[in-house]
Amino acid sequence: MANKFQTQAINDEIMEAMSLKNRYNFLNNNLMAILTPDQFSWLREVERFCMRYEKKNDITHGPEEDVYDWIPDFGKKGYITRAHAFDEVDQSYEQHGAVADMLRYLAIDNFDPQFAMGSGATVLAINPIYWHHEDIPVRLEALKQLVTGEAPGCILITEPERGSDAVHQLTTCEEQDDGSFILNGDKIYNTNAPKSKWAVTYATAEKNNGNKMAQFLVDTDWDGWNCDRVFIPWVPKLYLGREELRDLRVPKEYILGGVGKGREHLFEGLVPERIGIAYGAIAQCWGALEYAAIYTNLREQFNQAILKFQGVGFLLTDLWARTTNVTLGLLKFAESFDEKVEKFGGEDKIPKNIKQAMVASASQFKYHATMLSKDVCYECANLMGGAGLSDNTLTHDYVNISRIQEIVGGSRQIQQYIMSMALRTLFKMSV
Ligand SMILES: Cc1cc2nc3c(=O)[nH]c(=O)nc-3n(C[C@H](O)[C@H](O)[C@H](O)COP(=O)(O)OP(=O)(O)OC[C@H]3O[C@@H](n4cnc5c(N)ncnc54)[C@H](O)[C@@H]3O)c2cc1C
Repeated sequence: MANKFQTQAINDEIMEAMSLKNRYNFLNNNLMAILTPDQFSWLREVERFCMRYEKKNDITHGPEEDVYDWIPDFGKKGYITRAHAFDEVDQSYEQHGAVADMLRYLAIDNFDPQFAMGSGATVLAINPIYWHHEDIPVRLEALKQLVTGEAPGCILITEPERGSDAVHQLTTCEEQDDGSFILNGDKIYNTNAPKSKWAVTYATAEKNNGNKMAQFLVDTDWDGWNCDRVFIPWVPKLYLGREELRDLRVPKEYILGGVGKGREHLFEGLVPERIGIAYGAIAQCWGALEYAAIYTNLREQFNQAILKFQGVGFLLTDLWARTTNVTLGLLKFAESFDEKVEKFGGEDKIPKNIKQAMVASASQFKYHATMLSKDVCYECANLMGGAGLSDNTLTHDYVNISRIQEIVGGSRQIQQYIMSMALRTLFKMSV
């Protein structure tokens, strides 16, 4: 097993048993009866790649590794995102759609959760370019680089003074005579930004006015892009940015949504973002469960496997049941999303009322899955005693990353706020 640690705390037999191969086996044995043969073989394809990749490159997941180094190799295989086939950038991935992307994420998160989260942030830049490239060559080129792992990307919504209140932005965009825009303002906590070639950013023609927002594609080599790293100790391998945009000129062909379109584009991006965070959260539950299930079956105290003590076994079954059930829910959501895309002839053709219902579902899943992963990851580590807290396994990564997901993509309270508005709409539709 390729694990980097300062001192080995876990015995050789258990360390070996917790290999990536065995952890995938545990996951697969759980999902075998649930997935269709096609879905299952796709999951296994990505898993096989990750296992070979870990071995071939002697990846230890130790603190010195740079997860950004792996992006080109995963990109070449089309493993940054499978939400679409990406024919427009000459990829034509056979396995694509919501289910394919969920399973891809599951395999990659089990390989390395921080790497998976970083790639997830690149996807947030991919989606708006995919929807709004309008066949303009510079946009297609950026899209291709992001999808194929040539360059990481990021999305700039959050500002130092505007977090949850994302529609009252202070970053301004001023239109010039030649149709370009000049951007001025500050952004913060943007995953991947210091490492990104491309950034999708929001600004407004009038401060605090959500109706005047616009959306831009920015090349981070341009003058006026100034970015420092914000260090988040729970994901020490990820580079988040704090940007000062100073007289940053965005040429006309890089405007993804003009003034008045930004807010709509922002909300359009939030549904897949929240579902993606839910995929990540449930993948982290599985990652932690895999370790805990193997460990508690092998670790002995008082002359027997600790799993056999009810305090351990029953807690683990509770975490396992809740994880399985939310996985089934997410899978159903992803399957019905793919069916709708097929039925209506494209994501953009799905009727508005169905899309509206998806906004509520995305918040429900994001809310539920991230809260669950916070519990499951912590409790799984707890069931492993000192071993779960040591640096010997990825368990500490799971505990740490699971504490972040409730904030990213809109906090728990914001999801509750969105859901309460959806409840009001449903009430009005029903009574
Ligand atoms: C690891 C990480 C990665 C991130 N990646 C990105 C990224 O890639 N791009 C990007 O743009 N942003 C990113 N963010 C920013 C993230 O989306 C924001 O941190 C988040 O939206 C919350 O904003 P805030 O930090 O300003 O908190 P605030 O908005 O100040 O919230 C503070 C507290 O107040 C609560 N609160 C606020 N308003 C309400 C309300 N109306 N009702 C009830 N409670 C409320 C919140 O729930 C929270 O508990 C990232 C953040 C982190 C930590």
